[in-house]
Amino acid sequence: MTDKNIAAIIVAAGSGSRSGLDTPKQYALLDGKAVLAHSYTALQAHPRIGTIVIAIGAGQEEMARDALASGTGEPILVVGGDTRRASVLAALETLEALGNVDAVLIHDAARPILPAAVIERLVEALGNHHGAIPALPVADTLVQGAGALMADNVERAGLYRVQTPQAFDFATILNAHRTVAADAGVTDDAGLLRALDIPVALVQGDAMLEKLTYPADFARAEVMMMTQRMPRVGSGYDVHRLVEGKPLWLCGIEIPHDRGLSGHSDADVAIHALVDALLGALAEGDIGSHFPPSDPQWKGAESHQFLTFARDRVSARGGEIAHVDITIICEAPKIGPHKDAMRMRLAELLNIPIDRVSVKATTTERLGYTGRKEGIAAQAVATLLLPIL
Ligand code: MG
Repeated sequence: MTDKNIAAIIVAAGSGSRSGLDTPKQYALLDGKAVLAHSYTALQAHPRIGTIVIAIGAGQEEMARDALASGTGEPILVVGGDTRRASVLAALETLEALGNVDAVLIHDAARPILPAAVIERLVEALGNHHGAIPALPVADTLVQGAGALMADNVERAGLYRVQTPQAFDFATILNAHRTVAADAGVTDDAGLLRALDIPVALVQGDAMLEKLTYPADFARAEVMMMTQRMPRVGSGYDVHRLVEGKPLWLCGIEIPHDRGLSGHSDADVAIHALVDALLGALAEGDIGSHFPPSDPQWKGAESHQFLTFARDRVSARGGEIAHVDITIICEAPKIGPHKDAMRMRLAELLNIPIDRVSVKATTTERLGYTGRKEGIAAQAVATLLLPIL
């Protein structure tokens, strides 16, 4: 399977009336971001998954774009049909038109916590089967109900609860969607293969993959999510020399001053410290290893591009920036009047709310190189939440 092109479809076309929410549940917020964005991020962050198509309901384009705005990559939105099956077929046909897809994972947006290990088990099973689904053995006692009374027990041995994503050889599932009759009594994609007598492998599902249906499911999912993310803290430090005849850039804004910082790029010392803090929290090197001063393409570079690079690395790891805190160390200029503009600019560059961005300043009581106004130093701390799935 390692050489196959694997795409993914997220089915997000429902109106979600059982969740008791005003908006369809795939757009409701879970842990601060739309339900849909969680599974999109998980699929997008997985190295085996390429193109992602999202089947949405008519009139949901704007909600979907907003929901996915903070992520990286470009999901393809397809307006689905009247039924789940019609929506999946529309998404499959979009992938067919794009071409070069060998396999596809079909996932329900209402299952937002998608462990990478489940994706890996499905991909591995596709090496030997045309279809594979995650499933969990039923652990509870099962009974028939007779009104409000208990009737007979149901034998639970051999029974499984089926989850998504379901994984398929692309040509096989497309053909099944096109040929199995609508009245065949099939309720999911794997059922279409069974209707054609094509074996489907069971792989181990995950309790995290539970579907959000009722309001209480959201609270349970939020708790589960917090247990699946590890806080990671990175620190950064940088110094640049103050010289005549240069503009002064700090935190992505130009500050009026009689001198500016010298360096290979625009020498925005605060952003450089922050980039190192973000990369440090990821354990992915430092600003110099990604943007070597020896490389002429970074000469005079505007430092905001280093920061958006680090931000995108956090997204690519499925992480979130919880908080950043910068201290600028200088005798002059006064930082106070510019602090809020700096916070606003950093929040915009990092694509996070401004209340997660702190900018502080201090002097060194005229001691040392900052005290003698020979240079400006900055230190930064970044706290990330990274998935441990
Ligand atoms: Mg620097």
